[in-house]
Amino acid sequence: MSQDVDVIIAGAGMAGATLGLSLARAGLTPLLIDPVAFDSQLQPTFDGRASAIAYAAFRQWRALGLGEAMEPHAQRIEQILVTDATTPGAASGAPLPFYLRFDSGEIADRSEGEPLGYLLENRRTRAALAAAVEDAGIEVLAPARVVKAAFGARAAEVTLADGRVFAAPLVVGAEGRGSVIREAAGIGAIGWPYAQTGVVATVRLARPHEGVAHEYFLPGGPFAILPLTENRASLVWTESTRRAEALKAARPEIFQAHLERRFGEFLGDIAVEGPVFAYPLSLQLAERFCAPRVALLGDAAHGVHPIAGQGLNLGLKGAAALAEVLVEAMRAGEDIGSEVVLERYAAWRRFDTVTLSAGMDAFVRLFSNDNPLLRLARGAGMAAVNRIAPARRFFMHEAGGAVGDLPRLLRGEAL
Ligand SMILES: Cc1cc2nc3c(=O)[nH]c(=O)nc-3n(C[C@H](O)[C@H](O)[C@H](O)COP(=O)(O)OP(=O)(O)OC[C@H]3O[C@@H](n4cnc5c(N)ncnc54)[C@H](O)[C@@H]3O)c2cc1C
Repeated sequence: MSQDVDVIIAGAGMAGATLGLSLARAGLTPLLIDPVAFDSQLQPTFDGRASAIAYAAFRQWRALGLGEAMEPHAQRIEQILVTDATTPGAASGAPLPFYLRFDSGEIADRSEGEPLGYLLENRRTRAALAAAVEDAGIEVLAPARVVKAAFGARAAEVTLADGRVFAAPLVVGAEGRGSVIREAAGIGAIGWPYAQTGVVATVRLARPHEGVAHEYFLPGGPFAILPLTENRASLVWTESTRRAEALKAARPEIFQAHLERRFGEFLGDIAVEGPVFAYPLSLQLAERFCAPRVALLGDAAHGVHPIAGQGLNLGLKGAAALAEVLVEAMRAGEDIGSEVVLERYAAWRRFDTVTLSAGMDAFVRLFSNDNPLLRLARGAGMAAVNRIAPARRFFMHEAGGAVGDLPRLLRGEAL
């Protein structure tokens, strides 16, 4: 058994790796464990998604020294256009009556010229994080799977599938929705599947996208066109799980034909690049974010629908808050695995996370529905928000993530 690290982090995904790096930069010793070899996480076929990253969350990566590696691949989101569409291909037709338009120029006075957010392909983010983790000399055990954990008075003990055992004052469960650490700590979770799947593909566009993100609310679920660097876009096409599976399995020419019907012609010819991915969607919220010697982070604590691109942003905010709490506790000579310390993290993130998750859930139900009364209500709601400039600015500041009691890393400050 080895016990010379401060924090064992189960899961070296984007949330776990960001936490590891934040802790190491401030003088703590983390150990990252993941069943997937770090190199395979970087393959284009591993994760086809791109993530909309709030500008405050991007500031955190800059503060951790990742700016140079990430900036060339980060597409500024200058505008977001939201449309309630009844017909496929609506994007090419006449303007629809109900829409919302967010423009980064409207909040430039308070966002220091930042855009509404950045779009980054997950594989680029993973590559930048992996290189920084290696440069910082953080120990990574991969491939290695955590199968068991036990929490004692002075340390937590983690057992790997190959029988090795590691101990530390604190273990963080950052292994996504099927968190072994959460279960071992006896922390329950609530949630439900949405019977929807997000079909994800990257396309090259013939006309410039000009940093505009589009979201169309179609009866099967939202359809998002998210601008990427090199005039490409990431599509997140939400469909019923049955239709999504058929789309993923379709031959390229059939997929292209369905896509053109949905997408319309407003961005000119489109060409699909790389494989099509499918992600079943669900909600999962842990009942608590910590217990003695354990904290939960990222999707292990809260998995939400991608309707507003908030899942990873929540995880990054959590990583910044947890790192700040642990570093301050270490500097004050406190036991970083004690419940008193960990409860500060849970209290900081609980309200924000639960309200946002509940809001996203209500949003999904309201917008994945073709009921004419609901259509009327949401159309009126969008038109009202669109008319009222302060309401528009409120949503833009929320999307930028620079609101509320911000951890220092999200303000761009080192720990
Ligand atoms: C279609 C789609 C689009 C999305 N778009 C956005 C967006 O635009 N913006 C946004 O903010 N969010 C978005 N999200 C959400 C975002 O992708 C997730 O919230 C994010 O990936 C969660 O990161 P994580 O590190 O917490 O977990 P994960 O990415 O699930 O990583 C968990 C890690 O733990 C490892 N692991 C698993 N089991 C074990 C074990 N037993 N022991 C050790 N390690 C283990 C895994 O190998 C993995 O590396 C989207 C999600 C979907 C499905």
